[in-house]
Amino acid sequence: MRFDLPTPGFSFELLATLGHARAGILHTPRGDIETPVFMPVGTAGTVKAMTADELRAPPLDAKIILGNTYHLFLRPGMEVMSIAGGLHRFAAWDRPILTDSGGFQVFSLAALGEIDDDGVTFRSHIDGTKHRLTPEISMDIQRVLGSDIAMCFDQCPPGDADAATHEVALARTTAWAKRCRVAPHAPGQAVFGIVQGGIDTQRRLRHMDEITALDFDGYALGGLAVGEQLADTYRILDQVAHRLPAERPRYLMGVGTPQDLETAIAAGIDMFDCVMPTRNARNGYLFTRSGPRVNIPNAANRTDLGPIDPDCPCATCRTHSRAYLRHLYLAKEILYARLATLHNLTFYACHVRAIRDRILAEGERA
Ligand SMILES: [Zn+2]
Repeated sequence: MRFDLPTPGFSFELLATLGHARAGILHTPRGDIETPVFMPVGTAGTVKAMTADELRAPPLDAKIILGNTYHLFLRPGMEVMSIAGGLHRFAAWDRPILTDSGGFQVFSLAALGEIDDDGVTFRSHIDGTKHRLTPEISMDIQRVLGSDIAMCFDQCPPGDADAATHEVALARTTAWAKRCRVAPHAPGQAVFGIVQGGIDTQRRLRHMDEITALDFDGYALGGLAVGEQLADTYRILDQVAHRLPAERPRYLMGVGTPQDLETAIAAGIDMFDCVMPTRNARNGYLFTRSGPRVNIPNAANRTDLGPIDPDCPCATCRTHSRAYLRHLYLAKEILYARLATLHNLTFYACHVRAIRDRILAEGERA
């Protein structure tokens, strides 16, 4: 079953379902994205330590990456991005890009000034300069970046926010989504709406109804894994994800561990992003199929000439030993970050692809 999305050139093809889990293809003008998919995070116009060629090369073969509106807006700034002709040309990345709205970073990273119903004033975490983001400004930045999928500007309350804070944020997020829906965007740029509501199921479902009524190209669950208990995250996923429109892609923002991805896919999610594989890699944590995460500086790895993961097809595992990676890490060699990032991103790509293959093999044709 193939569903046209509101933005011309985009469609979502559902291939198979297994319970609430789905395998599909998101067709975009810049290429097809097999779902479920994990999107490596390219915060400042680069997936840290990786070249575009390395991201594209199998077995990693990233079909889509993320760019961060907040970071690119502050540095290099919109004049450079505009002269460069957008993020694809600037970063020499010809496959799809999803940009977030900047909302999450403004609320989590920047020194917050005023939040009002029109937008947010904040100070840069880099140099303290004062800036303002509104739904229209966020959409305009994403228009200049020229991403393939733009996200609505939303207000994401912290995990421990009280009910009153949530209600204000929800009303604002809906009002802002309406403004994002009608704001000008780049030709061939899809726009996704974001459902907030914290860990209260009824509040989530109510907000889902408000946002899905606006007919976006896809829908995201925001405001999860922001400090709440994991059981609450999983409960919301179980109760909300499969109720999002079946004919649109569903995106869980900023989550998470390999287990989180498996749980969310079972609940009906199609798209993910998270800094975990890239950040963990740089901090010495490497994922493996069999057994716990490897903490590379551990003494146990000092003379271990085996690979991080004997079943991993990545160039790091096919070429280098744990002992060598540990040595590079302790010696603070730049190469360590590159080898470790390649491994963790390949692990995530293979993990999600294996789940997709299982849905296709065991599920019902859609
Ligand atoms: Zn590997």
